[in-house]
Amino acid sequence: MEPLIVVDHVNKHFGELHVLKDITTTIHRGEVVVVIGPSGSGKSTLCRAINRLETIDNGTITIDGQALPSEGAALAKLRADVGMVFQSFNLFSHKTVLENITLGQLKVRKRSKSDADKRAMELLDRVGVADQAAKMPSQLSGGQQQRVAIARALAMDPKVMLFDEPTSALDPEMINEVLDVMVGLAKDGMTMVVVTHEMGFARKAAKRVLFMADGEIVEEATPEKFFTNPQSPRAQDFLSKVL
Ligand code: ADP
Ligand code: MG
Repeated sequence: MEPLIVVDHVNKHFGELHVLKDITTTIHRGEVVVVIGPSGSGKSTLCRAINRLETIDNGTITIDGQALPSEGAALAKLRADVGMVFQSFNLFSHKTVLENITLGQLKVRKRSKSDADKRAMELLDRVGVADQAAKMPSQLSGGQQQRVAIARALAMDPKVMLFDEPTSALDPEMINEVLDVMVGLAKDGMTMVVVTHEMGFARKAAKRVLFMADGEIVEEATPEKFFTNPQSPRAQDFLSKVL
Protein backbone atom coordinates (compact mmCIF):
# COMPACT_ATOMS: atom_id res chain seq x y z
CA MET A 1 0.00 0.00 0.00
CA GLU A 2 1.18 3.46 -0.89
CA PRO A 3 1.64 5.89 2.01
CA LEU A 4 -0.33 9.11 1.59
CA ILE A 5 -0.05 10.81 4.98
CA VAL A 6 3.01 10.10 7.07
CA VAL A 7 2.98 11.45 10.62
CA ASP A 8 6.37 10.91 12.21
CA HIS A 9 7.18 11.55 15.86
CA VAL A 10 4.95 14.61 16.09
CA ASN A 11 4.73 16.60 19.30
CA LYS A 12 2.53 19.57 20.09
CA HIS A 13 2.06 21.62 23.23
CA PHE A 14 -0.49 24.25 24.11
CA GLY A 15 1.50 26.05 26.78
CA GLU A 16 2.24 23.44 29.42
CA LEU A 17 -0.23 20.97 27.99
CA HIS A 18 1.36 18.22 25.90
CA VAL A 19 -1.51 17.50 23.49
CA LEU A 20 0.25 15.33 20.89
CA LYS A 21 2.83 13.00 22.35
CA ASP A 22 5.20 11.55 19.81
CA ILE A 23 2.48 10.60 17.33
CA THR A 24 3.60 8.30 14.53
CA THR A 25 1.22 6.77 12.02
CA THR A 26 0.81 6.30 8.29
CA ILE A 27 -2.41 6.64 6.32
CA HIS A 28 -2.26 4.75 3.03
CA ARG A 29 -3.95 5.65 -0.20
CA GLY A 30 -7.53 4.40 -0.25
CA GLU A 31 -7.54 3.63 3.46
CA VAL A 32 -10.33 4.64 5.83
CA VAL A 33 -9.04 5.26 9.35
CA VAL A 34 -11.38 6.05 12.22
CA VAL A 35 -9.92 7.95 15.17
CA ILE A 36 -11.73 7.55 18.45
CA GLY A 37 -10.99 8.44 22.03
CA PRO A 38 -12.18 10.51 24.95
CA SER A 39 -12.77 14.23 24.68
CA GLY A 40 -9.54 16.19 25.03
CA SER A 41 -7.32 13.37 23.81
CA GLY A 42 -5.93 15.36 20.87
CA LYS A 43 -8.02 14.02 17.97
CA SER A 44 -8.97 17.42 16.59
CA THR A 45 -5.47 18.77 17.10
CA LEU A 46 -4.08 15.88 15.07
CA CYS A 47 -6.55 16.54 12.22
CA ARG A 48 -5.82 20.24 12.32
CA ALA A 49 -2.07 19.59 12.28
CA ILE A 50 -2.48 17.43 9.16
CA ASN A 51 -4.25 20.34 7.46
CA ARG A 52 -1.80 22.79 9.00
CA LEU A 53 -4.51 24.66 10.83
CA GLU A 54 -2.19 24.04 13.80
CA THR A 55 1.58 24.16 13.86
CA ILE A 56 3.55 21.34 15.46
CA ASP A 57 6.53 21.65 17.81
CA ASN A 58 8.61 18.91 16.22
CA GLY A 59 8.39 15.80 14.12
CA THR A 60 7.22 15.78 10.51
CA ILE A 61 4.00 15.37 8.57
CA THR A 62 4.16 14.67 4.85
CA ILE A 63 1.29 14.40 2.41
CA ASP A 64 1.96 12.48 -0.76
CA GLY A 65 5.69 12.85 -0.12
CA GLN A 66 5.56 16.61 0.42
CA ALA A 67 6.36 18.31 3.73
CA LEU A 68 3.63 20.63 4.94
CA PRO A 69 4.15 24.14 3.57
CA SER A 70 3.88 26.91 6.14
CA GLU A 71 2.22 29.62 4.06
CA GLY A 72 1.31 31.11 0.71
CA ALA A 73 0.10 29.41 -2.44
CA ALA A 74 1.60 26.07 -1.43
CA LEU A 75 -0.47 26.09 1.74
CA ALA A 76 -3.67 26.94 -0.16
CA LYS A 77 -2.94 24.02 -2.47
CA LEU A 78 -2.36 21.71 0.47
CA ARG A 79 -5.64 22.77 2.06
CA ALA A 80 -7.39 21.99 -1.21
CA ASP A 81 -5.70 18.58 -1.41
CA VAL A 82 -6.78 17.79 2.14
CA GLY A 83 -10.54 18.20 2.36
CA MET A 84 -11.77 18.96 5.85
CA VAL A 85 -15.25 18.61 7.26
CA PHE A 86 -15.89 19.98 10.74
CA GLN A 87 -18.55 19.35 13.33
CA SER A 88 -19.97 22.83 12.72
CA PHE A 89 -20.49 22.77 8.92
CA ASN A 90 -18.63 26.10 8.45
CA LEU A 91 -20.38 27.00 5.19
CA PHE A 92 -20.08 30.54 3.88
CA SER A 93 -23.35 31.93 5.22
CA HIS A 94 -23.68 34.80 2.75
CA LYS A 95 -23.22 32.62 -0.33
CA THR A 96 -25.71 30.25 -1.90
CA VAL A 97 -25.22 26.52 -1.65
CA LEU A 98 -24.00 26.47 -5.25
CA GLU A 99 -21.56 29.35 -4.64
CA ASN A 100 -20.21 27.51 -1.60
CA ILE A 101 -19.18 24.69 -3.91
CA THR A 102 -17.83 26.80 -6.76
CA LEU A 103 -15.78 29.40 -4.85
CA GLY A 104 -12.71 27.27 -4.17
CA GLN A 105 -12.87 25.72 -7.62
CA LEU A 106 -12.70 29.19 -9.20
CA LYS A 107 -10.10 30.68 -6.85
CA VAL A 108 -7.79 27.79 -6.00
CA ARG A 109 -8.33 25.32 -8.83
CA LYS A 110 -8.75 28.13 -11.41
CA ARG A 111 -11.63 26.41 -13.17
CA SER A 112 -13.99 28.24 -15.50
CA LYS A 113 -17.38 29.19 -14.08
CA SER A 114 -19.17 26.69 -16.30
CA ASP A 115 -16.83 23.84 -15.30
CA ALA A 116 -17.17 24.77 -11.64
CA ASP A 117 -20.98 24.94 -11.87
CA LYS A 118 -21.13 21.61 -13.63
CA ARG A 119 -18.90 19.91 -11.07
CA ALA A 120 -20.83 21.51 -8.20
CA MET A 121 -24.15 20.22 -9.51
CA GLU A 122 -22.72 16.70 -9.96
CA LEU A 123 -21.51 16.73 -6.36
CA LEU A 124 -24.70 18.21 -4.94
CA ASP A 125 -26.55 15.45 -6.75
CA ARG A 126 -24.18 12.86 -5.33
CA VAL A 127 -24.82 14.01 -1.76
CA GLY A 128 -28.55 14.30 -2.45
CA VAL A 129 -29.13 18.06 -2.22
CA ALA A 130 -29.08 19.20 -5.85
CA ASP A 131 -32.56 20.70 -5.40
CA GLN A 132 -31.17 23.06 -2.72
CA ALA A 133 -28.49 24.67 -4.93
CA ALA A 134 -30.02 28.15 -5.08
CA LYS A 135 -30.79 28.40 -1.34
CA MET A 136 -28.76 30.00 1.41
CA PRO A 137 -27.15 27.58 3.90
CA SER A 138 -29.38 28.76 6.75
CA GLN A 139 -32.43 27.53 4.83
CA LEU A 140 -31.13 23.96 4.94
CA SER A 141 -31.33 21.39 7.73
CA GLY A 142 -28.14 20.51 9.59
CA GLY A 143 -27.84 17.22 7.74
CA GLN A 144 -28.22 18.97 4.40
CA GLN A 145 -25.66 21.62 5.37
CA GLN A 146 -23.16 18.97 6.36
CA ARG A 147 -23.67 17.19 3.05
CA VAL A 148 -23.03 20.50 1.27
CA ALA A 149 -19.83 20.87 3.33
CA ILE A 150 -18.74 17.42 2.14
CA ALA A 151 -19.53 18.35 -1.48
CA ARG A 152 -17.55 21.57 -1.07
CA ALA A 153 -14.47 19.68 0.07
CA LEU A 154 -14.89 17.08 -2.69
CA ALA A 155 -15.11 19.80 -5.33
CA MET A 156 -11.40 20.43 -4.86
CA ASP A 157 -10.63 16.82 -5.82
CA PRO A 158 -8.79 16.24 -2.54
CA LYS A 159 -6.30 13.43 -2.07
CA VAL A 160 -7.71 12.76 1.36
CA MET A 161 -10.76 13.79 3.36
CA LEU A 162 -10.53 14.55 7.08
CA PHE A 163 -13.76 14.48 9.06
CA ASP A 164 -13.77 15.83 12.61
CA GLU A 165 -16.91 14.58 14.35
CA PRO A 166 -19.05 15.37 11.30
CA THR A 167 -22.28 14.15 12.88
CA SER A 168 -21.86 15.33 16.48
CA ALA A 169 -23.85 18.53 16.00
CA LEU A 170 -26.71 16.86 14.15
CA ASP A 171 -30.13 15.84 15.33
CA PRO A 172 -30.26 12.04 15.55
CA GLU A 173 -32.55 11.64 12.53
CA MET A 174 -30.01 13.39 10.32
CA ILE A 175 -26.95 11.43 11.31
CA ASN A 176 -27.50 8.57 8.89
CA GLU A 177 -27.95 10.75 5.82
CA VAL A 178 -24.45 12.11 6.43
CA LEU A 179 -22.92 8.75 7.36
CA ASP A 180 -24.43 7.21 4.21
CA VAL A 181 -22.61 9.77 2.06
CA MET A 182 -19.38 8.97 3.92
CA VAL A 183 -19.85 5.21 3.50
CA GLY A 184 -20.36 5.84 -0.22
CA LEU A 185 -17.10 7.78 -0.40
CA ALA A 186 -15.28 5.00 1.42
CA LYS A 187 -16.66 2.43 -1.03
CA ASP A 188 -15.46 4.57 -3.92
CA GLY A 189 -11.92 4.34 -2.56
CA MET A 190 -11.52 7.81 -1.03
CA THR A 191 -8.74 8.05 1.54
CA MET A 192 -10.42 9.17 4.75
CA VAL A 193 -9.50 10.01 8.32
CA VAL A 194 -12.66 10.18 10.40
CA VAL A 195 -12.89 11.29 14.01
CA THR A 196 -16.22 9.93 15.19
CA HIS A 197 -18.06 8.21 17.98
CA GLU A 198 -20.26 6.42 15.44
CA MET A 199 -19.18 2.87 16.04
CA GLY A 200 -21.53 1.61 13.32
CA PHE A 201 -19.66 3.68 10.77
CA ALA A 202 -16.32 2.42 12.09
CA ARG A 203 -17.45 -1.19 11.80
CA LYS A 204 -18.90 -0.67 8.34
CA ALA A 205 -16.24 1.48 6.69
CA ALA A 206 -12.99 1.56 8.65
CA LYS A 207 -9.98 -0.45 7.75
CA ARG A 208 -8.27 0.58 10.96
CA VAL A 209 -9.18 2.21 14.24
CA LEU A 210 -6.76 4.54 16.03
CA PHE A 211 -7.62 4.91 19.68
CA MET A 212 -6.20 8.08 21.24
CA ALA A 213 -6.03 9.01 24.90
CA ASP A 214 -4.06 11.79 26.60
CA GLY A 215 -2.31 12.82 23.39
CA GLU A 216 -1.09 9.35 22.51
CA ILE A 217 -2.10 6.69 20.05
CA VAL A 218 -2.77 4.00 22.60
CA GLU A 219 -4.08 1.32 20.31
CA GLU A 220 -4.31 0.65 16.60
CA ALA A 221 -6.33 -2.28 15.28
CA THR A 222 -8.95 -3.43 12.82
CA PRO A 223 -12.48 -2.49 13.94
CA GLU A 224 -13.38 -6.14 14.59
CA LYS A 225 -10.39 -6.57 16.85
CA PHE A 226 -10.70 -3.22 18.54
CA PHE A 227 -14.40 -3.47 19.37
CA THR A 228 -14.43 -7.12 20.40
CA ASN A 229 -11.06 -7.37 22.07
CA PRO A 230 -9.50 -4.04 23.03
CA GLN A 231 -6.05 -4.58 24.48
CA SER A 232 -5.39 -1.56 26.67
CA PRO A 233 -7.21 -0.76 29.90
CA ARG A 234 -7.92 2.76 28.61
CA ALA A 235 -9.61 1.45 25.47
CA GLN A 236 -11.54 -1.11 27.51
CA ASP A 237 -12.71 1.64 29.84
CA PHE A 238 -13.67 3.95 26.95
CA LEU A 239 -15.62 1.26 25.13
CA SER A 240 -17.45 0.23 28.28
CA LYS A 241 -18.80 3.79 28.45
CA VAL A 242 -19.74 4.32 24.81
CA LEU A 243 -20.97 0.90 23.61
P1 ADP B 1 -10.27 16.11 21.13
O1 ADP B 1 -10.57 16.54 19.73
O2 ADP B 1 -9.75 14.72 21.23
O3 ADP B 1 -11.44 16.32 22.05
P2 ADP B 1 -8.48 18.38 21.13
O4 ADP B 1 -7.44 18.07 20.11
O5 ADP B 1 -9.56 19.33 20.73
O6 ADP B 1 -9.10 17.02 21.69
O7 ADP B 1 -7.81 18.99 22.41
C1 ADP B 1 -6.72 18.36 23.08
C2 ADP B 1 -6.36 19.20 24.29
O8 ADP B 1 -5.82 20.43 23.85
C3 ADP B 1 -7.54 19.55 25.17
O9 ADP B 1 -7.09 19.53 26.51
C4 ADP B 1 -7.89 20.95 24.75
O10 ADP B 1 -8.49 21.66 25.80
C5 ADP B 1 -6.54 21.52 24.37
N1 ADP B 1 -6.62 22.54 23.32
C6 ADP B 1 -7.14 22.39 22.08
N2 ADP B 1 -7.02 23.49 21.34
C7 ADP B 1 -6.39 24.39 22.15
C8 ADP B 1 -5.95 25.75 21.96
N3 ADP B 1 -6.12 26.38 20.80
N4 ADP B 1 -5.34 26.36 23.01
C9 ADP B 1 -5.15 25.70 24.18
N5 ADP B 1 -5.52 24.45 24.41
C10 ADP B 1 -6.13 23.78 23.41
MG1 MG C 1 -12.32 17.22 18.88
